[in-house]
Amino acid sequence: MRFDVDVIRSGIVNAYLIRGRRIALVDTLAPAGWGRLLKALQRAGLSLGDIEFILITHHHFDHCGNLARLKRLSGAVVVAGAADVPVIEGSQPVPPPSDLNRVGRFLAKLPTRLLESYQKCECAGVDVPVHGGEAIEELGLEVVALPGHTPGGVAYYDPEGRRAFTGDLVSNYFGRPGMPTLSASESLAEIAASQEALAELGLETAFPGHGPAPMQGASPAIGRLLEKRRGSAAAG
Ligand SMILES: [Zn+2]
Repeated sequence: MRFDVDVIRSGIVNAYLIRGRRIALVDTLAPAGWGRLLKALQRAGLSLGDIEFILITHHHFDHCGNLARLKRLSGAVVVAGAADVPVIEGSQPVPPPSDLNRVGRFLAKLPTRLLESYQKCECAGVDVPVHGGEAIEELGLEVVALPGHTPGGVAYYDPEGRRAFTGDLVSNYFGRPGMPTLSASESLAEIAASQEALAELGLETAFPGHGPAPMQGASPAIGRLLEKRRGSAAAG
């Protein structure tokens, strides 16, 4: 489906405004990014009430930070991966830092209070929990399950435009696909499988959660990342 995408950057975090026949936001930045969201809407000649859908890629606070407020003010329908819903809605706590790397093991030793205050954001209800394979017909998007960074991570894929909103499954900090933040990830094996799925999707364009956006030549570039990792695993 034809739609334009505006990148909304706040520091190293990206949210996206979909402007076509229907208006949608992908992710909502950390709470500190609120002003950026308003500015992006204003630039597009839109107001909060115009947002019809909010598509969440995963439960982290820098993607859900303004969800409750946006939902309240826009009345938009909220879509998110079913396995991430308990954290987004607040019935389950944010998981502690992972032991997948040294940073995570260090962070895990800090007082929970400190981490909680840093990641603080208001919980919000999810209207449409998704598992992957669903179509969001109003927007011409398909849901692709991408577990590994969080259990309910998803991409929103536009097959016609060969483009997708890919959340944190690949970062783009250095202008090329890289690993997600491992201290906040859950499973290396699942990350590899999800990246494989993105490499096989034939994406020309990816809209990542972090770093310069959009990322062009996305699927081949993600394929090269996987090859490099397999090479270093074999060598190591
Ligand atoms: Zn994340």
